[in-house]
Amino acid sequence: MLPIDGLLGAGPDCCPIAGKKAGQPGSAGSSMAGPWDAVLRDEAALKQAAVVAVDAALLEGVLMRTDAEPNASEVVSYAPFTLLPSAVPRALFEQAYAVQRDFNLLVDAISRDKEFLERTLASTIKVDDFTARLFRIHQQVLDEGLAQSVFLGINRSDYMFDCGAASPPALKQIEINTIAASFGGLASRTAAVHGRVLRVLGKPEEAARLLPNNPALGLAMGIAKAWELYGSPSAVVMFLVEESQRNIFDQRCVENELWDRNIRVIRRRFRDVYEQGSLDGTRRLFVDGQEVAVVYYREGYVPSNYDQQNWEARLLLERSRAVKCPDIATQLAGTKKVQQELSCPGTLEKLLPGNAEAVKRIRATFAGLYSLDVGEEGDQIAATAIANPERFVLKPQREGGGNNLYGEELKQVLQRIKDSPERTSYILMDKIEPQPSVNYLLRARSPLKASKCISELGIFGVYVRQGTELVLNEAAGHLLRTKAVEHADGGVAAGVAVLDTPYLV
Ligand code: ADP
Ligand code: MG
Repeated sequence: MLPIDGLLGAGPDCCPIAGKKAGQPGSAGSSMAGPWDAVLRDEAALKQAAVVAVDAALLEGVLMRTDAEPNASEVVSYAPFTLLPSAVPRALFEQAYAVQRDFNLLVDAISRDKEFLERTLASTIKVDDFTARLFRIHQQVLDEGLAQSVFLGINRSDYMFDCGAASPPALKQIEINTIAASFGGLASRTAAVHGRVLRVLGKPEEAARLLPNNPALGLAMGIAKAWELYGSPSAVVMFLVEESQRNIFDQRCVENELWDRNIRVIRRRFRDVYEQGSLDGTRRLFVDGQEVAVVYYREGYVPSNYDQQNWEARLLLERSRAVKCPDIATQLAGTKKVQQELSCPGTLEKLLPGNAEAVKRIRATFAGLYSLDVGEEGDQIAATAIANPERFVLKPQREGGGNNLYGEELKQVLQRIKDSPERTSYILMDKIEPQPSVNYLLRARSPLKASKCISELGIFGVYVRQGTELVLNEAAGHLLRTKAVEHADGGVAAGVAVLDTPYLV
């Protein structure tokens, strides 16, 4: 049974994004799934298409290792994905691409601004031990003097389409990920799967309209550029990976692009670096006797990634001449506290002087962000959020999904900490209200059923700087993730969101 009727057409209060084209069947006043309303009523066809979809995902390499065996490829499964591509407003999609190079400039500028990071994180590091430890390494590396002279940034700026106050919908940034931004690899293969599904469902023209997308290549080109500028042809690129490597295929997509360009790649954990890593007299990094040109972190972004030895390994890497992607300053630039500070009047102007257009484009994507620092302003916003918890999201300085607080829980936590300095380890953000649409979330061993979903669009950014000169600055592709509305939080890795493809409307 595919109970979609109750889900189709979210009612009169939904915002008119999709189905605005005159004469499009079944879409008037409907949800964002407008383009597929007719398809969604054909239960038998959907069931068939789902079988094709799963095989297509396996054939295209939209893969993940299993929970049971995260470190073996003997038996693998498909990464979860939507049956249908999701409608995305073309104007907002283009806006997200257009602002990406500005965000690259901004992240780079923050990472180079010692005073800004120090001032912005001062209150946070008093109460948040993880941020404090990262910050101490940052300071230590600066005190010693940077050995690194080539810088590589790979980030992903995530957005939702806000239908709350705004009409028409507005592009609002959720956050920017400056370390271990994932799914660029699998996203490079997802459109082919959705193209197949649409053809099977009798929508060949729509299939042909799906956009090409290859972040794996874009990310690899950034890594390759940094490797080249490092200037030692025998040196390798090191992917710093987690103990549990379920998402290895996403990484292999990037890795293979490097091998194809005759750049050698090794995969190591912090533990391996601790045991086998060393610096020579000029702080060149060696692991297992191999010189490392670029360290690409797919690990190291949450406290659980670190024990004492791993912290020591991190320090060794940061002190080295190798290009770190990201260096520790750039990781700090991606904290929620920095994001909140950027929304304060005048901050963007100071970080990007003489670049008023970029400032304008960036600011247009900001939702309301509020500091909980000790003081009257923090008291006021805390009281407002306690009185209206449904309007806000409470965010700690954490990455990886599942950490934010909403609704009743937000209220309770804020009530408990509102008079303690502990509150400064969080920021408050306006809750973004996207328009739900109907889709099917395909997961191994889950029954096929329709869900009311919302989507989050990510744009990958890549830049390379040599000394003070920016030699590469690009938007490298996109990632659309979709989740059922009942989940407030959590990404693909957290098992909540699934991979999707934008269908521009
Ligand atoms: P993380 O670093 O853990 O990924 P995010 O800021 O990206 O933290 O938040 C995680 C998830 O929570 C997002 O993917 C999104 O689904 C939801 N979320 C975050 N901020 C908001 C917001 N302001 N409004 C609505 N949902 C949000
Ligand atoms: Mg996120």
